[in-house]
Amino acid sequence: MIPYGRQDINQEDIDSVVSILKSDFLTQGPAIPAFEKSISEYCGVPHVVALSSATAGLHIACLALGLGRGDIAWTSPNTFPASANAALLCGADVDFVDIDPQTYNMCPKALRSKLDQAKKNGRLPKIVIPVHFAGQSCDMAAIATLAHEYGFKIIEDASHCIGAQYKGKKIGSCDYSDFCVFSFHPVKIITTGEGGAVTTRNPDLYKRLVLLRSHGITREESMFEGKSHGAWYYEQLGLSTNYRMTDMQAALGRSQLSRLDQFITRRREIAARYDALFSDFDSMRPHQIPEAESSWHLYVVQVPQGISRKDVFDKMRQADIGVNVHYIPVHTHPYFRNIGFIQGDFPLAEAYYESAITLPLYPGLTDQDQDYVVSHLISAINS
Ligand SMILES: *Cc1c(COP(=O)(O)O)cnc(C)c1O
Repeated sequence: MIPYGRQDINQEDIDSVVSILKSDFLTQGPAIPAFEKSISEYCGVPHVVALSSATAGLHIACLALGLGRGDIAWTSPNTFPASANAALLCGADVDFVDIDPQTYNMCPKALRSKLDQAKKNGRLPKIVIPVHFAGQSCDMAAIATLAHEYGFKIIEDASHCIGAQYKGKKIGSCDYSDFCVFSFHPVKIITTGEGGAVTTRNPDLYKRLVLLRSHGITREESMFEGKSHGAWYYEQLGLSTNYRMTDMQAALGRSQLSRLDQFITRRREIAARYDALFSDFDSMRPHQIPEAESSWHLYVVQVPQGISRKDVFDKMRQADIGVNVHYIPVHTHPYFRNIGFIQGDFPLAEAYYESAITLPLYPGLTDQDQDYVVSHLISAINS
């Protein structure tokens, strides 16, 4: 089977993990700050917190911004449920903003009109979580302008796009947001097995993230509310859980990060090659905005009108091609229906979903594999 995504692990990656296994610290050792420093340098951002997953990152980013009962956060319906669950796990409500039908990202025009309405109803969002779908940045300048006007905070769900750029700067630099969240799941751009990280420019928010990564507990004397009892002393100042990354993961992540630009280059080559091979199917290809340079986590095609996506999908799977679909609109899952959403709430995300197929794209995909995928897709469409 040619999968839709796959990690790329070399001997250096393996050696880096083995060296940690032979060292004094398997967790909370020096590999964590070393990995965080590498991300900070790569993204051009002062503060980075490595975590057990992007899901953990989204959750504690919401907590750090004080999201709680009575508040509401908005995200895109075209995402993995974790983007929405982060708000629900804080006891807050969630709502969605429909997508731009060309980029499949949160539409800033739809955001503005929903904000206007929310202002009239007295229920503005505390946080908006744009998701950089498939690795292409959202229109962050437009979203940040609205944040200023309507007074909400921004958490970028950048699970798809470490290594991508927006207006010539790395995603993760937080030029247009309070936090940016990366995922290091094996299908994403770099991997730590499970893992994630949050970046921020704000030193106070950074301190809160560090606290929330580990139960809300601190050992830093400057943060104590009471007096230290001695060198063993720590205080719990907030409520959280264990969202820490291990040193094995951090060492793997740092080794992977050193090849990130190579991965991105190869992903861009593969995407450009798909574009060229689909030159006769212009409407099928993913649209790119000039301000964004995608990390190409996913290459999603839209099956032409009148052709069954399910038929095409099944034919591809029968040919041992691990096509996938990203994403089932979050609000249509049973859990979200039970809290009041209905089919039809976000028609553009729903229409996009009906025709979407994700093709294989990862650094190790060969040109030969890619030709096989393309010929099967074209024959499935034409048959
Ligand atoms: C993968 C993904 C997540 C969750 O990442 P984990 O590291 O697996 O927790 C969240 N949001 C989006 C958009 C994702 O693709």
